Amino acid sequence: TQGGEAGMIRKLPELVINQIAAGEVVQRPANAVKELIENSLDAQATQITISARAGGLKLLQVQDNGKGIARADMNIVCERHTTSKLRELEDLQTIASFGFRGEALASVSHVAHVSLTSRTADAPCAYTCEYADGKPKAPTRLCAGNAGTTVTVEDLFFNQPTRTTALKSATDELNKIADVVTRYAVHNPAVSFTLRRFGAGNDLRTPGSGTVPAAITALFGSTVAKDMVALETKSVKLFFELRGWLARPLFLGPVANGGRSNKKSMFMLFINERSVECRQLKQAIDLLFSTQDVVCPLVYLDLKIDPRRVDVNCHPTKNHVQFLDQTAVFERVQEVIEDALTGCVQQSRCHATL
Ligand code: ADP
Ligand code: MG
Repeated sequence: TQGGEAGMIRKLPELVINQIAAGEVVQRPANAVKELIENSLDAQATQITISARAGGLKLLQVQDNGKGIARADMNIVCERHTTSKLRELEDLQTIASFGFRGEALASVSHVAHVSLTSRTADAPCAYTCEYADGKPKAPTRLCAGNAGTTVTVEDLFFNQPTRTTALKSATDELNKIADVVTRYAVHNPAVSFTLRRFGAGNDLRTPGSGTVPAAITALFGSTVAKDMVALETKSVKLFFELRGWLARPLFLGPVANGGRSNKKSMFMLFINERSVECRQLKQAIDLLFSTQDVVCPLVYLDLKIDPRRVDVNCHPTKNHVQFLDQTAVFERVQEVIEDALTGCVQQSRCHATL
């Protein structure tokens, strides 16, 4: 070299860069399940079966009866940034809230052994292919199969030893998977969901009959699904629409309760069709319940906001979102829940005096 020491900085190989990026997108089996379920929903599936072994680390499979993948697409389907859902940059603004564009299958194929079997309605048979690091391992082959797509993910994180040690408990991972399936099954009651746990718990199954209470009954039992309260509101000014359900709110009353209720409810929030986390809103709702001496095992909210006002890119897994006028929207959500509870109290007083 010309005088001076040789530089120490090296660019990482492309493959390593992709594997690191993939590990950020898919942090645990439940993230992969969520992406695969969303793909099945995007493909208009009405039946989705999820199978998980060893918390999804050994085997994760999502089978649907959706529109399938054309043979010509099988080769590129696992490459990064290949998608059938986005043609122009402008589309990005309007569909951004539906998650990654063309990154889910690519990411999974960088951290697991992936195979796809798919058949479109007009294909004479199904096609199958195995993938590694975004590329097919061998040419697509013919095989037998029903219309729809089956994605099989084996040995998740086999090439990320630190990740597998960080995810110690298969039970925890399975619970996280069941949680994702439960949320999507409630939010998509017209789709029949099945989760197979192979001895690590009973199968979960929803009927796909179309109503949220029917899905909640199948998942949580008829006690929770009894006396559910519907929520509905919208604001033109804040560009949002809200629907939702409170599952069986019970009024303890200050005496019966001997103080404030500290029972936490299961909180399911969908913003523009994606399940998201929002600790702030959950805490606000829990506080509302506790000040009103109400126990409510389940809160499900379906929020639709003008996508141009939502930023889904504040976290690599896109499990968190931010949007404009967030505080004002949350206040409206609290109000509508409060009104619904007031309605219930009045109703139960009426019943009591009858
Ligand atoms: P994205 O969903 O953002 O397009 P993915 O990596 O999740 O990216 O999927 C890539 C493409 O593979 C999709 O655009 C779709 O065309 C196809 N695909 C994936 N899963 C399915 C499925 N279950 N049914 C039909 N097509 C699918
Ligand atoms: Mg996808």
